[in-house]
Amino acid sequence: MPETLIKVDLTKSPYENDMIHNRWHPDIPMVAWVKPGDDFIIETYDWTGGFIKNNDSADDVRDIDLSIVHFLSGPIGVKGAEPGDLLVVDLLDVGALKESLWGFNGFFSKKNGGGFLTDHFPLAQKSIWDIRGLYTSSRHIPGVNFAGLIHPGLIGCLPDPKMLAMWNKREAELIATNPTRVPGLANPPFGPTAHMGRMAGDAKAKAAGEGARTVPPREHGGNCDIKDLSRGSKIYFPVYVPGGGLSMGDLHFSQGDGEITFCGAIEMAGWLHLKVDVIKDGMAKYGIKNPIFKPSPITPNYKDYLIFEGISVDEQGKQHYLDVHIAYRQACLNAIEYLKKFGYSGAQAYSILGTAPCQGHISGVVDVPNACATLWLPTEIFDFDVMPSSAGPITHIKGGIDMPLSPDR
Ligand code: ZN
Repeated sequence: MPETLIKVDLTKSPYENDMIHNRWHPDIPMVAWVKPGDDFIIETYDWTGGFIKNNDSADDVRDIDLSIVHFLSGPIGVKGAEPGDLLVVDLLDVGALKESLWGFNGFFSKKNGGGFLTDHFPLAQKSIWDIRGLYTSSRHIPGVNFAGLIHPGLIGCLPDPKMLAMWNKREAELIATNPTRVPGLANPPFGPTAHMGRMAGDAKAKAAGEGARTVPPREHGGNCDIKDLSRGSKIYFPVYVPGGGLSMGDLHFSQGDGEITFCGAIEMAGWLHLKVDVIKDGMAKYGIKNPIFKPSPITPNYKDYLIFEGISVDEQGKQHYLDVHIAYRQACLNAIEYLKKFGYSGAQAYSILGTAPCQGHISGVVDVPNACATLWLPTEIFDFDVMPSSAGPITHIKGGIDMPLSPDR
């Protein structure tokens, strides 16, 4: 059996575990060293470190302090890896912890985090998903059951001081364009809730005040939330510091493209079995700025889709120029309106798009003035016929159960 380098105890706070951190900073010490060619196991908390519970209230989603996320396991040092190299990571397998066979999906309140459709779903809501082997279903969303495409939402190497400074500078400049916006345009460093792994004393206090938040994807990968980066994938990460410093977390049992609900995909604690290798000077050799990867050879076999189109005209009828963000939002809203005709609440439909293996495509970006985005809804995840017919939609989903909602305080 490969060695488990990082263990998590879900009954304890991640702040008590010095192999966990929640900021990106070059000075966070490696918690373990491996050699090229080694394989090993890493356990992770869910991204909130256990804050969201398996219950029927969304109060935790409403009340969470989002400055605590994401709790990452690492960093792992790889002997011989130097700045400019590529760290090759084989994601040999990923799974849920056997003591925690469930996950959550939710919508943050618009006042605390928001999400892709926060103007349409401004209050905290939650769905809980049970994991049974390969499959998942939710007591809050009847009529769907699907196989997981398990993946880490977040994985990447530590930045060097120059890259960290660049991240903080450009994000601060964006925030300065509208500093009071709710939700914020970006998240600046925030020391009080920083978990800096094994750092201590003055060095820790300084690093906590400048450590980059883990929310956005960046040049090193980070929180990319790519569902296809699943078990069996091979990833090539740029290396910026000696040893690389590979950290990961935010495991998802399943996710639709875009992770549109933001309180995640189907978020879970879990484990990863990894193998590492190094390509010397690989960044320059292959012209690599952001990670590249090869997807899994094993994916859920959904071949049939109902595809919703969206264009870059917003809900008020205003024309936008080739805006794929607005076009994808329209595609998602169109899918939600459709699913409501089968008896789902809007929240249930939104949660299905965030959790099920939906595909999102940028279908056209040249036909001025409209971008065209498409949302691909797999039809086989439903236990009823979801296609249009002359008989009209038959309502299979009968009231009673819905996703719990917690009004703002
Ligand atoms: Zn996530």
